[in-house]
Amino acid sequence: MGSVFTSIIKGEIPSYKIAEDENYFAFLDINPNAKGHTLCIPKKETDKLLDLDEESYLGLMAFSRKIGIALEKAVPCKRVGMAVVGLEVPHVHVHLIPLNEMRDINFQHKVSMTDDEFRELAAKIREQL
Ligand code: AMP
Repeated sequence: MGSVFTSIIKGEIPSYKIAEDENYFAFLDINPNAKGHTLCIPKKETDKLLDLDEESYLGLMAFSRKIGIALEKAVPCKRVGMAVVGLEVPHVHVHLIPLNEMRDINFQHKVSMTDDEFRELAAKIREQL
């Protein structure tokens, strides 16, 4: 069985999509550390970041950079932080998190958002791409 993120890519389960290209996909994290918390993933399912071949690794970083620049324009913040954890979902993902204070990068600190807020924020980030 594929990962929950593979199901998102296939459209089998819903997501607040930001962008996709041939190899990568970006969507809002459903349990965000801060508003705008975005995940960038390779479409090819691999568990760990460092198991990606070099081309896929660099491609994921280039894709994440593009999404991060749009995120920084769309969401007021001091800067966009980047993290790779993967302890919960075994499908490589780059966390892009708008940061205003140190706790925003703390994965035990969460904010709640309504469905409308998720939709509006995703649209706002897409507009900056
Ligand atoms: P980790 O594997 O520890 O890097 O964390 C996985 C992240 O994926 C967490 O921040 C979750 O909130 C997020 N996540 C899990 N399921 C979904 C989903 N269906 N849609 C969006 N984000 C998700």
